[in-house]
Amino acid sequence: MGRAERGWLRVVGLGPGPSEWLTDEARAALHGAEHVLGYTTYLARLPALEGKLLHGSDNGDELSRARHGLDLAAQGARVAIVSGGDTGVFGMAAAVFEALESGPAEQRSLDIRVLPGVTAMLAAAARLGAPLGNDFCAINLSDNLKPWAVVENRLTHAARAGFVIALYNPASRARPSQIHAAFAVLRALRPASTLVMFAKAVGRPDEELSVTSLGAADPAQADMRTLLLIGAESTRAIERPGGPPWVYTPRSISTP
Ligand code: SAH
Repeated sequence: MGRAERGWLRVVGLGPGPSEWLTDEARAALHGAEHVLGYTTYLARLPALEGKLLHGSDNGDELSRARHGLDLAAQGARVAIVSGGDTGVFGMAAAVFEALESGPAEQRSLDIRVLPGVTAMLAAAARLGAPLGNDFCAINLSDNLKPWAVVENRLTHAARAGFVIALYNPASRARPSQIHAAFAVLRALRPASTLVMFAKAVGRPDEELSVTSLGAADPAQADMRTLLLIGAESTRAIERPGGPPWVYTPRSISTP
């Protein structure tokens, strides 16, 4: 077997925080890889990467990182490309397939596998109770890769359709104002009593959860490590001593 046939590429989600949220399959892929590529911050978080060739790069470099990973695998190397959370949710997996589609045809026969992970939305929901107990959607608030008008349009329709809405990338230093624009859209369409949950750094030592309402929420509370959940009309809270309330969305919706 030639060296090139031994190469593989695993596109791996690391989970949102602690190593308990890294799947066994992902751990085994990292263990077996010779090269690990990813956003520098994620690589720094990875235990047991001694002996691996680490290729850290900036966020925003996704397509060149994907091409680099494919090229290394094509040369016969065992390669893992990592994302936080699940790699298919606003992560590296789509960048890998963009690179594959536009890259050399022979790379299509590479041994490529995408390994699922725990996405931030699911980790946040589990901490809070069961806010995703009925239909929901996820929207990436960043307009780095799509026009803001698209974000606003999707928010409008999601709010009108009554989904629980998960907002990824609600704010960053470069985009401090969009979360305010997003709240303006939501406030025009949903009652002020709608539950709003801020889940910051879920699974990390500085995790913070807060449950408030659309009327009372301060959008400035959201930063790039926060996932926001906007409840549906039926989403409700159960107060409990010593912690934020449990939040859940009932499974059934009665006919009006
Ligand atoms: N692939 C990742 C998402 C990448 S987009 C996943 O599946 O989770 C980055 C956004 O994810 C952040 O801006 C934030 O909204 C959310 N996020 C990632 N990790 C998080 C965590 N530990 N706590 C809260 N939100 C998180």
